[in-house]
Amino acid sequence: MAIERTFSIIKPDATERNLTGAINALIEKAGLRIVAQKRIHMTRKQAETFYAVHKARPFFGELVDFMISAPVVVQVLEGENAVLKYRDVMGATDPSKAAEGTIRKLHARSIGENSVHGSDAAETAALEIAQFFSGNEIVG
Ligand code: ADP
Ligand code: MG
Repeated sequence: MAIERTFSIIKPDATERNLTGAINALIEKAGLRIVAQKRIHMTRKQAETFYAVHKARPFFGELVDFMISAPVVVQVLEGENAVLKYRDVMGATDPSKAAEGTIRKLHARSIGENSVHGSDAAETAALEIAQFFSGNEIVG
C-alpha cells in the first residue's frame, strides 16, 4: 500500500472545547503523520466552496454557519492508506453510530457538530488540500 495524503479539519465545536491536542493525539496514535497544519477562521465563501457538494442538502446553511462560527484547524495527514485510515479514526458521521474509541464517538456533539472532517477519496483529498495549502506548506 502506497503512502497517501488526506485532508482533515478539526471543526469549531472541537476548537472551542480546546480539543485540538486530544484529537491530534488520536491521529498520531493511529500512525498518521500531521505534515501540515494551520489554525484559520474560515470565511463564508471558503466554507461554501468547501462544502459545495452538499449545496442542495437541507442542512447546507446550518453547516456553513457552523463552520464559520469559530476557528478551525486545517491539516494534511500522511500515511499508508491515509484516506480510509482517517475515516476509521474519525468514526461515523452520526456520533451515536460511531465505533468506540473513534474521534466522533469520544468528542462529537451531534451529527452536525461532529468535531472533524476527513476526505472521502484520494481525488477529493487532493482538491481539498489544494484549497487550503500551497505545496511549500506541506512538509512530509
Ligand atoms: P462526513 O463528514 O462524515 O463525510 P457528510 O459528507 O455526509 O459526512 O456530511 C458533511 C458534514 O455535514 C458532516 O460531517 C456534518 O457536519 C454535516 N451533516 C451531515 N449530515 C447532517 C445532518 N443530517 N444534519 C446536520 N448536519 C449534517
Ligand atoms: Mg463527507
